[in-house]
Amino acid sequence: MKVPSALIDSLIETKGFDKEAFEKVHQSGEQITSVRFNAQKPVDQSTIFSVENNNEAIAFSSVPWNANGYYLSSRPSFTTDPLFHGGAYYVQEASSMFLEEAIRQSIDLSQSLRVLDLCAAPGGKSTLLQSVISDKSILVSNEVIKLRVTVLSENIIKWGAANVVVTNNDPKDFQRLQGYFDLIVVDAPCSGSGLFRKDPRAVNEWSEQSVEMCCHRQQRILADILPTLKDGGTLIYSTCSYSPMEDEDISDWLINDFGLESISFQLKNEWNIIETTASISRAKGYRFYPDKLKGEGFFIAAFRKENLSGLEKRDLNVKGKSERLTSKEIEVIKPWIDKWDNFFFIKQKEEVIAVPLYLEKDLAILQSALYIKKAGVKLGVIIRSELIPDHELALSNIINPLIAGIEVDKSTALEYLRKQDINIETNYKGWILLTYQQIKLGWIKLLSNRINNYYPKEWRIVNK
Ligand code: SAM
Repeated sequence: MKVPSALIDSLIETKGFDKEAFEKVHQSGEQITSVRFNAQKPVDQSTIFSVENNNEAIAFSSVPWNANGYYLSSRPSFTTDPLFHGGAYYVQEASSMFLEEAIRQSIDLSQSLRVLDLCAAPGGKSTLLQSVISDKSILVSNEVIKLRVTVLSENIIKWGAANVVVTNNDPKDFQRLQGYFDLIVVDAPCSGSGLFRKDPRAVNEWSEQSVEMCCHRQQRILADILPTLKDGGTLIYSTCSYSPMEDEDISDWLINDFGLESISFQLKNEWNIIETTASISRAKGYRFYPDKLKGEGFFIAAFRKENLSGLEKRDLNVKGKSERLTSKEIEVIKPWIDKWDNFFFIKQKEEVIAVPLYLEKDLAILQSALYIKKAGVKLGVIIRSELIPDHELALSNIINPLIAGIEVDKSTALEYLRKQDINIETNYKGWILLTYQQIKLGWIKLLSNRINNYYPKEWRIVNK
């Protein structure tokens, strides 16, 4: 693949850029596959992909800057791996896993934080953020494009956490949440040159005009969202573009126009990440070049908003507007979840949702300002004093561990995920969780003469 010469020309002066090595690594055709494991859904990592690849072991090696990140020596079929569908890992480009290190170095994660992932679909950064924030924190995972919110929600459901709120809003809709967030991540839409190796077609879409257009859009997005960052809060900005106009120049603009302070990171030499300095503000930025490390092109920078007022988080006073459950209904759902008294329950169009109690006020605030696509964990529908459990509950970390599960082999798991009829020898009756390598895949209902497969139709695997 030939990198556009206008891109090469724009990078000549950029620190760490090595024209020859850069062009060579783009011609090599090398494809890197990496995954990040979900620590809340532990699996035996040594065997997981060997089974997948017809017993031909896929070698694992660690992503140097992320303890849960691993490179795979070849790309297995993720679609036919039940663990992928159960949320045991997320397939994520290795450079972008550096977000975890960036956050650890710029904010105290032991606090309860209000975190916003503004440009979140399909959910790579959000699942990472959810894994690193404390139990008493909230993550708002937002995506402006409606079609992309569906895949974002699906990935959040698979990840299993209850403290994520998925929203579908334009950055300017956040205006009413002034000073609300402790941490905002803007993984901005960009001209995409960093992903040329993964998607060679992107080369044809790249142009100097698109870089300029992206730069203006990035400024618009940042200007819209910055008022919602609290004083003293942290902003993380990242792109998968090499163009300085979308990277260091944005840092200059943020510091010049908004008075933000740059945050620098400690790097290990062996990571080969390049620290750059923006020309006017001297802000630090971090570049990932594929000829220097095992990952794709990526840029990340962190900033602190000046603590002007010295005020704590701004509290907005709003009342929730969802219908609550009756005490009789609460009795119905109690046996289904772990530590039920840590949650409050709401009803929306007959569906019962569990939200961690400590998020009660935040949910009301978010509801007053945003379009919420999903919050907490959908438990199911109560019909005649019985809960018809939802798929979200099966995949969540809040399910009662005493609920019966049946472990199945891979071919049965795949039949289930294809929503086919399945055969299981058991004396159980009623709702049962299907598990594969102890990872929950979803519900079946065992009746006296048949087994009903409750895997969501819209999620089923459709390939052979
Ligand atoms: N953070 C995601 C992840 O790690 O999986 C990838 C995000 S992608 C680089 C950028 C996202 O920004 C896309 O989902 C895109 O739909 C969204 N986007 C596009 N235009 C936008 C705008 N004007 N404001 C906010 N987000 C926008």
